[in-house]
Amino acid sequence: MSTPLEFIQSHRAQFERELCDLLRIPSVSTLPARRDDVRAAADWIATHLRDIGLTVDVIPTTRHPLVYAEWLQAPGRPTVLGYGHYDVQPSDPDELWTTPPYSPTIRNGGLYARGAADDKGQLFTLIAAIRAYVRTRTPAPVNVKLIIEGEEESGGESIAAYVRSHGDRLRADAALVLDFGVFAPGIPAIALGLRGIVGGEIEVQGAARDLHSGLYGGVAPNPFQALAEIITRIKDADGHVLIPGFYDRVAPPDALERAAWDRLPFDEAAFLREEVGSTALTGEPDYTPLERMWARPTFEVHGMPGGFTGEGTKTVIPARATAKISMRLVPHQDPGEIRSLASAHIRSLAPRGTRVDVRLWHGAKPVVMPPTLPAVAAAQRALSEAFGREAVFTRMGGSVPIVADFIEELNIPTVVTGWATPDANAHSPNERLDLEHFHKGIVAVIRFFERIGGRA
Ligand SMILES: [Zn+2]
Repeated sequence: MSTPLEFIQSHRAQFERELCDLLRIPSVSTLPARRDDVRAAADWIATHLRDIGLTVDVIPTTRHPLVYAEWLQAPGRPTVLGYGHYDVQPSDPDELWTTPPYSPTIRNGGLYARGAADDKGQLFTLIAAIRAYVRTRTPAPVNVKLIIEGEEESGGESIAAYVRSHGDRLRADAALVLDFGVFAPGIPAIALGLRGIVGGEIEVQGAARDLHSGLYGGVAPNPFQALAEIITRIKDADGHVLIPGFYDRVAPPDALERAAWDRLPFDEAAFLREEVGSTALTGEPDYTPLERMWARPTFEVHGMPGGFTGEGTKTVIPARATAKISMRLVPHQDPGEIRSLASAHIRSLAPRGTRVDVRLWHGAKPVVMPPTLPAVAAAQRALSEAFGREAVFTRMGGSVPIVADFIEELNIPTVVTGWATPDANAHSPNERLDLEHFHKGIVAVIRFFERIGGRA
């Protein structure tokens, strides 16, 4: 009988094949037309976990099902709560994909498909690790509970509600959230902080109806002009947010964390060239790019629907214009307070002749975890062993609302990590999972189980 590590070594091709099956399911949670596909992905996961021998519960919600599974074979040992999501972002524009988004293809050591990195490939490493124990009849080092959602890319309300009402069922000694990535190829990372978010839209109403710009240009208010004026008074050209009180609760990272960031092999020129691809980086000049992405809050505009956008010309002064916006928050900004401050400020900016509506949804809290947590220390050693290179502490510019729920609602020390490389193109065409990282990720999960279980 082999060990779990030998088992995963000899099943690499099989794991890749199975992951491809899951990736063929276009489980786009935000598109109502994909509802059955999302359900099919949940069923795929449930079936797979049942095959391994786990107790599985597919929990219906008002939108997409949650998959909950238990592997409680280690009485008296700690319990790990594992998290991942089986839904994906839309794939468009499909013409920019080298191979179709739902036809998983391996080339140059990467597996290309929508969801390969975010998050099906990472979620799969959790499942593969458990399978390695079961199939080799190796006693479980820990108990594992899995909570897997299908709405991460489109709100995640169902899991948030479930976590709040099922604290007992989800009770665990540590949580492992696999929805992040390595710092750089070969350098595993643990995100100690995550930004929060508040988002929504600003709607500006000018005239009562669309007007002819020849007949009324010069007297009628233009809501796009108004929006442009408003936006430049929410954030200035140096990336400084102008909402009064916005920065009041922002806590700087502690000196230790900042010193750790200074040691990271971050090449600003390469980052600009290979990841951002613009002519310059923008943002607050007094902070480094890593500080700006991890420890500073932001305001962004995502799109401005409205008016005439068809081919040709239509000389109209639109009655209405909208801007979709969001703000990323850092510890210890409070989403509710930021929502009020932002709404009041934006409404006060309404140019003459316009009416401004601000609709912001609740959003997610920012979180930060101390590196001294035993679960974090165990993960750092496990990842370092698996990748043969010391795991670094970083933060995540994005928001995983479930992490705040695990920490604040369930009071579980939470390790946020993952195996996706910076070139994973999550949410973009040609999403890619580096297969070496995928297989090392499975090793890392096994080593994490051993360390948390006190076997290593
Ligand atoms: Zn994700």
